[in-house]
Amino acid sequence: MREDLSFLARDNFPTLLTTLQEAGYHTVGPQLRDGAIVFDTLNSVDQLPKGIHDQQAPGSYRLEKSDSPRLFAWANGPQAIKPYLFTPREVLWRSQRSKTGELNFSTVEPEVKPTAIIGVRPCDIAALYLQDKHFLQQEKVDPYYKKRREQLLLIAVNCTHPTNTCFCASTGDGPQAHYGFDIVLTELDDGFLLEAHNQRGGALLEKLPVQPATEAQQQHAEHALTHAAEQQTRQLPGQNLNDALFKNLQHPQWQKIADRCLGCGNCTAVCPTCFCHSEGELAALDGQSSEHHREWDSCFSPGHSYIHGITIRPDTRTKYRQWMTHKLGGWHAQYGRSGCVGCGRCISWCPVGIDLTAEAAIICGEGDKDE
Ligand code: SF4
Ligand code: SF4
Repeated sequence: MREDLSFLARDNFPTLLTTLQEAGYHTVGPQLRDGAIVFDTLNSVDQLPKGIHDQQAPGSYRLEKSDSPRLFAWANGPQAIKPYLFTPREVLWRSQRSKTGELNFSTVEPEVKPTAIIGVRPCDIAALYLQDKHFLQQEKVDPYYKKRREQLLLIAVNCTHPTNTCFCASTGDGPQAHYGFDIVLTELDDGFLLEAHNQRGGALLEKLPVQPATEAQQQHAEHALTHAAEQQTRQLPGQNLNDALFKNLQHPQWQKIADRCLGCGNCTAVCPTCFCHSEGELAALDGQSSEHHREWDSCFSPGHSYIHGITIRPDTRTKYRQWMTHKLGGWHAQYGRSGCVGCGRCISWCPVGIDLTAEAAIICGEGDKDE
């Protein structure tokens, strides 16, 4: 039995939110909006998705209401916490023409406040660490991402209710969080098991009305997490697909995928690790000022592979191939691991239900060729 685990009774759960608010954090958490669970400002625990379960399948996402008191009995929604660090669209700098005709440039500093996000899933923490590698751990650090990242406190919630499209157990990124959070919760019927991962999380725990977790509570949480991993039926064919994918660039399955794929880019928009963006200039009509912005891009967009007058990936076959070979193959050389954390969003939110795990298995020679 572990001595470092605490128990917070369900009735006392609101103290977690109020403690964070009293410490000056802007609090964010999952809540229902337009038929999906999304992250937004959390003013009260009543906004959390109490009794909500999700049913996901390739091309399908549905929510159901039950009488359960549980707040986290669902897997995930269409967005991870990526938009809180890497915003979908932001202005980076402005230029202004002076009266004498000179152009003056000014950086636009992002307005950032200390933010605590409650309800972050283990797979999304893994994705955040991949985004850190891209935006923070290269020769050039992204100051916009860095500023937001430094102000972030994370309350993770282990996943006891994976859905049909989840496969985080096979990528090693869930259903239990092992790193990257301040506090992690595991929800039980009558409350929450809490574990602090760092000093900041420990200091926060000390302010909560917790008790030492009993052996029975710890066993209950352990069984729930083992069961959550066992429930997952999908998996990628191995951890490092770099060689297998790049050896099969002419596999006929790429065209079979392209025959179904709409090229909509949903898979890249919902993926918590995708970081592609484009930059552009928006000039005022009077020609005196302009804004330079960046916004999320996708390897499915027409401009993504446009170089010097040529679109080097003009068709859906090569666009999808770029998406998968980079995500599951090229990332190993670039960032030391696969770019997939097994959240399953690209499967659920693909309008035609293309399943990354099944397609990768076919291309790597492990799947059903008649699919
Ligand atoms: S590739 Fe799909 S399953 Fe993997 S992290 Fe991205 S959205 Fe999730
Ligand atoms: S794989 Fe699905 S989600 Fe991705 S671009 Fe094609 S149709 Fe859209």
